[in-house]
Amino acid sequence: MRAMVLEAPRQPLREVELPDPEPGPGQVLLTVKACGVCRTDLHVADGELSKPKLPLVLGHQIVGVTRDGRRLGVPWLGWTDGECRYCQSGRENLCDRARFTGYDLDGGYAELAVADERSCLQIPDGYSDVEAAPLLCAGLIGYRSLRLTGDAERIGLYGFGSSAHIIAQVARHQGRRVFAFTRPGDADGQAFARELGAEWAGGSDERPPEELDAAIVFAPVGALVPAALAVLAKGGVVVCAGIHMSDIPSFPYELLWNERAVRSVANLTRADGEEFLALAPHVPVHAEIETFPLGDANDALEQVRSGRARGSTVLVP
Ligand SMILES: [Zn+2]
Ligand SMILES: [Zn+2]
Repeated sequence: MRAMVLEAPRQPLREVELPDPEPGPGQVLLTVKACGVCRTDLHVADGELSKPKLPLVLGHQIVGVTRDGRRLGVPWLGWTDGECRYCQSGRENLCDRARFTGYDLDGGYAELAVADERSCLQIPDGYSDVEAAPLLCAGLIGYRSLRLTGDAERIGLYGFGSSAHIIAQVARHQGRRVFAFTRPGDADGQAFARELGAEWAGGSDERPPEELDAAIVFAPVGALVPAALAVLAKGGVVVCAGIHMSDIPSFPYELLWNERAVRSVANLTRADGEEFLALAPHVPVHAEIETFPLGDANDALEQVRSGRARGSTVLVP
């Protein structure tokens, strides 16, 4: 099979011919129809997540078809042991021995992929392969982040990329009010956010017209954490949705006082996946997508890195 392979961090992916993968016990073989590109893929390729399997096929938003014609989605959480204290308490996202797709396990920047069948998700009918791909991480992790804001009415989204543009739609559907923060001066990004239901959009250095009840930080920029705290109402929470972030600068305790909180979101559970994919058609979530051929995976990664992507970026083998 043809695949785009990371041989060492900080090097471009290389297009290679690999032996077709053989499914092991409990695994399915999938013909990859589409694979979303996630910022996490950049953190792996750039060596910021430092323990990938090498060589590695990146990609953890895989839509594929089994030999018997079932269409399945493969998310980031690729395998759990089912028996550690986290798995046993409904928190398999924190499993001590979890293996992650496109990091510990080969992912979907390829023509074929194998996946643990228990980790796979049913793709809702009505979504094309390409449309469904970004739901599998951008959508799922965004949804888990949104849930961890509780019943917050006024939500700030920092970084209006793949995840935020999906989750803005879900938040509006739930009757929440959305405030979008982009890089300062990104007028196109701000207009895009308003099209998707944000009632206000501005730069991350601006104050929204009123206090917010929660903020989700999608951009991998630690300085946004105190910036977000500074616009929260009492009792508000900042949820950090990414797997990697630059250091958070020190800030006065006053920003955290009055029961404000900062927390992270790690990975997903299969229950998150099932819940979100059942909800998506009812919103209905429509991801804005730019596709790239599999062989142009390096260009697709650069598109995500640049922040120029409008919505989601998806590879098609
Ligand atoms: Zn476990
Ligand atoms: Zn991801």
